[in-house]
Parts: sequence; structure tokens; C-alpha cells
Amino acid sequence: MSESPYPGLYRGLIERYRKRLPVAPDTRIISLTEGDTPLIPLENVARAIGHGVQIFAKFEGLNPTGSFKDRGMTMAVTQAVAEGTRAIICASTGNTSASAAAYAARAGIRCFVLIPEGKIALGKLAQAMIQGSVVIQIKGNFDDGMRIVKDMADAAPVAIVNSINPYRLQGQKTAAFEIVDALGRAPDYHCIPVGNAGNISAYWTGFSEYAGIKPKTAACAYCKDTCAFPCPAVTDSRPVMVGYQAAGSAPFMAGHPVAEPETVATAIRIGNPQSWDLAWAAVRESGGWFDALTDEEILKAQRLLAETEGVFCEPASAISVAGLLRDIERGKIREGSLITCTLTGHGLKDPDTAIKQSQGAVLEVPADSTAVRKAILDHL
Ligand SMILES: *Cc1c(COP(=O)(O)O)cnc(C)c1O
Repeated sequence: MSESPYPGLYRGLIERYRKRLPVAPDTRIISLTEGDTPLIPLENVARAIGHGVQIFAKFEGLNPTGSFKDRGMTMAVTQAVAEGTRAIICASTGNTSASAAAYAARAGIRCFVLIPEGKIALGKLAQAMIQGSVVIQIKGNFDDGMRIVKDMADAAPVAIVNSINPYRLQGQKTAAFEIVDALGRAPDYHCIPVGNAGNISAYWTGFSEYAGIKPKTAACAYCKDTCAFPCPAVTDSRPVMVGYQAAGSAPFMAGHPVAEPETVATAIRIGNPQSWDLAWAAVRESGGWFDALTDEEILKAQRLLAETEGVFCEPASAISVAGLLRDIERGKIREGSLITCTLTGHGLKDPDTAIKQSQGAVLEVPADSTAVRKAILDHL
């Protein structure tokens, strides 16, 4: 660990978990002080659903660029810079581009982002633009962008920072570490949205590593085991992993890639997940499952979290809670379980969807006290 004149200052996840990450001692760390996100007890939601469950939300929307992508990006960009890379590239449904642009800005390198035409939430586009990346909008979806980015690996001097970059998953596994560190044990279940399927794979790597177990299809094999295997166990159990996809974009339910994925949850509008095998391994090894939810169910959970817990996440994130609540009702979750859900991104990323589903929430009255008083009394 490098010296800091401020010993009490949190300095990002690489410094915190350095021993478990593939980073050399003298490497220049590119960080925005990501990680260390809150684990918020969802007491109102848990009370309403019953079954004696305890539910915690790992609110990844509170990372520096508003999504969990920062955990992976600090590792990917640190490694790219260490290798002397001058430019990075990614395909993105929005959050990867927002994060890549930020870390590239910080590192002083170029960033190219490929985004699908018209299907990117406004906040994410704003981030990529003001943070100085070159935004390339394609007449296609995320999967088209991903295919093109993979072509660029040989065609142009750019490093790919999508989650096929193994350093991304290494950074993202630290969210699982934080959960176990906070609870003092692994949860019984972990529920998570699934798009390109990198994050569920990263969590499984993290939970496994903390239990002193190397996952059978180890993501860490990519970094040639420089991440300190065998590493000391911190806990003796791992959670059941449950991954949720949007019904219109559910290749894991179909058993094959989906050609035209469609969902209001644009962050998981992905038909051809790149971490297919790793994600299946996580679910199989943990005794978990995949399931799909409709846009209606996703938006209902987004509203529920905002209205009853004061937690505003983006639609894709809410699917973890939507799925969990349905699985509790269906009896798939043991009574009295300790459950964690990843809320992957902040609600402010996608203000259009939030406003659209809050239609009628703004009262319009004349500018006088009588009218406002009446409005108050009508709505107490
Ligand atoms: C990227 C993203 C996802 C999907 O994560 P994968 O690793 O691609 O499965 C889910 N929600 C949000 C908000 C995201 O930005």
C-alpha cells in the first residue's frame, strides 16, 4: 500500500483490496475513490413481504459516476495505462461509457464509446459527452456495438474496457468483499440484474475468493492467478446467486442469444451476453437460478423502492428487488434468510423514465396560500 499523508482517507477499492487484486506495487492507480458504497437495509420492503427475511441493498448508484461500472473501470484503466495504452474503447448501453470517459479523463488518455442510437438514458449520454470522450452512435444495438469493438482490438490501437476485459471483473468482485466485510458473513442469497453477465460472474468470484474457494470456471484464471490464490478465507459460506433479466431481453431463459432485445431497462437491453459461461457457472455452482421479469414488474419495483425506502435506482437495478419479492412470494427463498440485492445504478441516470412513470404527481395551483393550503389538506 502506498503512503498517504491522510491515514483516515478512503482511497478507492484498489488501495483497500490491493492484496487480492492483480496490481503491481509501483503501478500508478487511476481512481475516483470508487467503492465503499452503502449497504442499505430495506426494512419497509422486508416488513411488507414478511417471511422473516432481512434484505439489504448494495447501492452501487453511489459510485463516482453513478454505477458499479466504476469498480471495474478503475482496474481496467489502471492496467491500460500501466501497459502504455493511449486510448480505450467500449460498447455501452450508457453506464460503461460514462465510467470509461471519466477514468480516461483522469488518466489523460483518449476514450471512444459506441452507443446504440436513441436507446441511451439522458444522464449517461451527458456524462460521456462532457467528460470528453468521442461518442460514436451506431445504427444498431449494444450487441452490434460489442461485435464492432471486438473487431477494433486488431484494427486500431485501442484497449477494450468492456467486461470481456478480465481486469473489469477483478475490480467488480470487490463489491462482494464489501458485503461480507459489512455483514460479518456471506448472505444466504444474492440477487442481481443480468445484462452482459459480467457482474454476476464478478460477484461469484468475490464471494468464492472470500470463502477460500476457487470458482470452477474461475474468472481469475484470466489474470493468471496474480490475484493471490490461494488466498485466506474470510468466511465459510457463499450465497445462492440469483440473476434476473428483462422478459424482452432474456437470453439465459431462452437458452440462446436473443436477436432484438427490448426493455425499458436499457442498461440490461443485451441479447448476446459476453460472460455466458461464467454466469452459468455462478448460478450452477451456487445452486441458484435465472429468471425474467416484465417491464411492468421492473418499473413497479423502481417505484416501490423510491416511495417506501427513499432509494432511487435506475430501472435495470430495480429488477433485483422485483425478482426477489416475486421469488419470496413463490416460496423459492427460505424463511428467515439474509438477502442482498445489487442496485447497479442511480435513478438520476434516467430521469425521463422516472418522470414518465410519475405522471400526475405534480399538482398545479395558483400562486396563493389558500390554494396551497387546500392542496395540503387534500393530500394529507
Ligand atoms: C451494466 C449494467 C447492468 C448489467 O451488468 P452486466 O455486468 O452487464 O450483467 C445492470 N444495471 C446497470 C445499471 C448497469 O449499468
